[in-house]
Amino acid sequence: MAIATINPATGETLKTYEPLSDEALEEKIARAATAFEAYRRTTVEQRAGWLRAAADVLDADVGTVAELMTTEMGKTLAASKAEIGKCAKALRYYAEHGPRFLERRPADAEAVGATQAFVEYQPIGVVLAVMPWNFPLWQALRFAGPALMAGNVGLLKHASNVPQTALYLEELVRKAGFPDDVFQTLLIGSATVERVLRDDRVAAATLTGSAPAGASVASVAGDALKKTVLELGGSDPFIVMPSADLEKAAEVAVTARCQNNGQSCIAAKRFFVHADVAEEFTRLFADQLAAQKVGDPMADDTKIGPLATEAGREDVERYVDDAVRKGATVVTGGRRVDGPGWFYEPTLLTGITPEMDVYSEEVFGPVAALFTVGGLDEALEIANSHPYALGANLWSEDEDERRRFISDVHAGMAFINGMVTSYPELPFGGIKQSGYGRELTDLGMHEFMNAKTVWVGPSSSGQRGGDPATASE
Ligand code: NAP
Repeated sequence: MAIATINPATGETLKTYEPLSDEALEEKIARAATAFEAYRRTTVEQRAGWLRAAADVLDADVGTVAELMTTEMGKTLAASKAEIGKCAKALRYYAEHGPRFLERRPADAEAVGATQAFVEYQPIGVVLAVMPWNFPLWQALRFAGPALMAGNVGLLKHASNVPQTALYLEELVRKAGFPDDVFQTLLIGSATVERVLRDDRVAAATLTGSAPAGASVASVAGDALKKTVLELGGSDPFIVMPSADLEKAAEVAVTARCQNNGQSCIAAKRFFVHADVAEEFTRLFADQLAAQKVGDPMADDTKIGPLATEAGREDVERYVDDAVRKGATVVTGGRRVDGPGWFYEPTLLTGITPEMDVYSEEVFGPVAALFTVGGLDEALEIANSHPYALGANLWSEDEDERRRFISDVHAGMAFINGMVTSYPELPFGGIKQSGYGRELTDLGMHEFMNAKTVWVGPSSSGQRGGDPATASE
């Protein structure tokens, strides 16, 4: 894919970039490795100060950066501004709580015959971040915030359609006053990722994106014996039971499906509605979907902007056409919007069967697939048959249903009477083909740290070796 800014609202190519030459890439990796040696010795207080400064820079830059994000990938200007605010909040969260997450973890010294025993958390070095375009600032910073707080150094390979936002991220770190080269953007295509990942100076990788990209990066990393964290696709279930507040559930369902123009990994994509309330919920949901204003993402009253790429809209059309050909009913929407730009109507499909691709794949656009079910067991059975298991939503006032949902739904995140969302205070990640590892909180920070075990024996007698007969690793 060419590295270029193409405005999805018009289809116009605004700026193109040459990928880094081999020499320039080599220099950036060398600089990152050198930067790490000094950066890992900075204090947590210094790093927290730089993170706070980065949050202040974001606050100051919100207007220009929001316009840039919207121009590059089509989310509404309001959504871009909200994303920037969320990033600033996460950076401040790590500045405040990071020092505590990095404290030594004491162990039971007496039990292991030591005078002192503890776990020391240390950064592991240069981490490669391969990131998607859909939350172009948030995805990169939810990696970079904790990584930089931990003392790691980042190399960002951003999606090829958001190069200006990618370059802004490097500028942000520089403007915040971080030491040189601790976070650099690499303008490279996906085919160059393997070379970077195999480089001995790169310690690990995190990828947020599609399952095929995750599998590709994970197999290279596996071959090179490097740690990875993968945040991949999702097709989150949104289950509505008879006890739910239907009006509220339908309102949230619209946001959960249409947020970010329908292009969120944690968007609710499959709706399982109990037969007793299916007719009413479907009507409420369809009416509100149809009322969403689709149009210029810069306009204040727009709810849904264009899809980010032409290929992305073609994928969405293919899913809807396939479902309709195999018998699905289009309750609302179902067509591209005529005119320039890659707009698609918010769409509700019912009558979904296993033969349709929407049943077992991920639709990355404002298309909801609604299933009418006889009860929670049936909802969970179909929901859990999907290869993805990122987030899951339940709407119910029934305690037993809530318990069963928490216990049995295949997901990394289970939300009840609300929609799956990310917060710095909660771990984020999936299971099955949605990936592995966690981002955010202390768990996200510790993914790319060496939890070094430290054992200190009594100084007078040297190491107490214990009984050699029972010694083990
Ligand atoms: P994508 O094609 O996988 O791209 C994501 C990133 O991976 C881009 O930087 C891309 O570079 C790179 N890439 C693609 N193929 C690669 C390969 N074989 N080796 C190395 N790097 C590769 O993803 P997308 O389709 O743009 O994004 C949508 C997907 O991301 C959806 O499935 C969505 O659910 C998922 N996602 C998951 C999360 C999460 O947190 N779980 C969050 C957001 C999105 P190029 O742009 O140069 O191709």
